[in-house]
Amino acid sequence: MTQESTEQPLRILVVMAHPHDFTHCAGTCGIHSAGGDTVTAVSMTNGVGTHNERLHDELLKPEEDQDASIVNQTGEAYAEVKEREFRDVCALFGVSDVRILAFPDKPFRKTAEAVEALRHIIYDVRPHVLITQRPYLHGRQGMVTAAHNDHDETAFAMLEAQSLASAPDYGSRQRPHTIAAAYYPGVYFMPDEIDFYVDISEWKDKRIQAEILFSSQGHTEAFAHKRIEISAGHMGWSAGREYAEGFVRANAEVLPRIIVPESALVRASEPRENYLKRIAGELK
Ligand SMILES: [Zn+2]
Repeated sequence: MTQESTEQPLRILVVMAHPHDFTHCAGTCGIHSAGGDTVTAVSMTNGVGTHNERLHDELLKPEEDQDASIVNQTGEAYAEVKEREFRDVCALFGVSDVRILAFPDKPFRKTAEAVEALRHIIYDVRPHVLITQRPYLHGRQGMVTAAHNDHDETAFAMLEAQSLASAPDYGSRQRPHTIAAAYYPGVYFMPDEIDFYVDISEWKDKRIQAEILFSSQGHTEAFAHKRIEISAGHMGWSAGREYAEGFVRANAEVLPRIIVPESALVRASEPRENYLKRIAGELK
């Protein structure tokens, strides 16, 4: 996120399909909220249809062995648990403006109602920055890289809401709003498609904690460590840092000149030993 041209705090809007999707950019959000920017986290759905692994596993058992507290849990009760987990996870990264739009998931479909809800969130938050699901169904080689799913539908709903919010509406005095910059989390892309990385090494423990907090999805401590090691750890490897979150820009930025980050200048001139130590977390 390029912030060299503006002194004003940024308002950042994160819109994802399911509560857990927020985690893919959580470290970056933590950096921004700690730096005085505001972050609003939105989940299009309450995630009830997604990742109820415990229920799945109970239903594999013979009926007499099933845990009644899991099998008889209502969708509403599961949604409540998931909402609590989502709010707790957001709080780890300094995000208190958390909104769950209770559209059904699996499948979530882009409806006029969903687009309208997002449009009003844009008017309400008036974000400078949007982080959301990627709207591409194809990779660079034209291969289909995603089945049409909740994430894509969220991306399409968000694109339409952005376009509507930025246009004047006949018969309404609503002040239009155009989002200055939009980014997609790198987890939805191939490594060679990432535009830039944010170093989240300092936030690694919180990323692990966030995975553990989503325990309704069956996450264990060992799983949480492994997941962050291979996801944020892999991006860190590519970035030459301990842990990182990658992003893809929705649009190319216009810069006042070529800007080379301090980290690249340091890396170019330092001993190679430092580079290895930084990936290993032995050097900040
Ligand atoms: Zn998801």
